[in-house]
Amino acid sequence: MIIFYIKGELFVRYQLGARERERLLESLPLTDEQRDFLIHHVKRGKKTIFANIMAKDKGIVLPGQTTNEEIEQLLDEWILDDYIDNGFVNPETRCECGRPLRYQYIVRHKTTNEKRRFGIDHFEEHTNISSTIIKDILKGFHTIDYELDELLVKISENWSLSEVVPYLPNEFKLSEGIKQYIDNDIPLLDRQIELLKKEIRLFVNQPQRLIDIVPSNVEKSLERQENDQISFDFGIDDSIHEVATTLDNNNVQINLGLTLEDQIFQFVQEGISSARVICELLIKHEQVFSVRYITGKPKIFVRVCQYLDSLVDQGIIKNREILGTDDRIYNI
Ligand SMILES: [Zn+2]
Repeated sequence: MIIFYIKGELFVRYQLGARERERLLESLPLTDEQRDFLIHHVKRGKKTIFANIMAKDKGIVLPGQTTNEEIEQLLDEWILDDYIDNGFVNPETRCECGRPLRYQYIVRHKTTNEKRRFGIDHFEEHTNISSTIIKDILKGFHTIDYELDELLVKISENWSLSEVVPYLPNEFKLSEGIKQYIDNDIPLLDRQIELLKKEIRLFVNQPQRLIDIVPSNVEKSLERQENDQISFDFGIDDSIHEVATTLDNNNVQINLGLTLEDQIFQFVQEGISSARVICELLIKHEQVFSVRYITGKPKIFVRVCQYLDSLVDQGIIKNREILGTDDRIYNI
């Protein structure tokens, strides 16, 4: 662990290095569930980093909570299919060039289904992915290793939720992502603790029911805020409204059109739960224009949420999770 000070403030970063990480993984009294969770955390984290950077290269920016499975729906080229840690250099898992590996990365081309297997040092040699993208991916992979370090250090120090978050309001519902850690007896990452504290503050200061009663007003003010951030003219702004939306007389009810609504509902039925990913799929399939706020969020997002919220009101969609202004999760 590295402890350092900036302007008199204490900062802690959890960087163990490969040997110490290995030592803790072996020596900590982890249950099978905890060990599986940590392995899964690293695998999933690397897949998500990989997919996010490949998507970003296509101009798609997604909120942090989006799952790798959902991002991969937006990609037609390479995805990280698997990441294997054998625990030892294993002749059964080789690089494309024949060198036996301990850590093997397997990428799969989504269109051709071709697979490539390699050690991290030969990432560039055995794929046609550009070196700039690979550099970003490797940087991202390091952050996942540091997250594992953070979890291991916290487990070794008997981390407890009540010490960092002393007050959890009675009716407060933990987000699905954070709940999984708690349920598996795994500490939360610092970034999750910050997020959780923010959610609790929001919950205490702005009761959920306020949002539920006046969704359109809240959405409209959010939309206005985001419009204010736009620094240049997209040019085709008006055409998207012609194609994708029609406003009725009192400007409250907004319809997307039956075809789009059917398509959106079909995505939800197929298990796509993130409204942001649904928007990106509509853009990918050229059903709406790629018109975005300066943050990268598609402008159609608010309309898609309004339609899905109407399905929640009708009881067709049972579960909705609001992730601030970034995303909404819908499950049938
Ligand atoms: Zn190789």
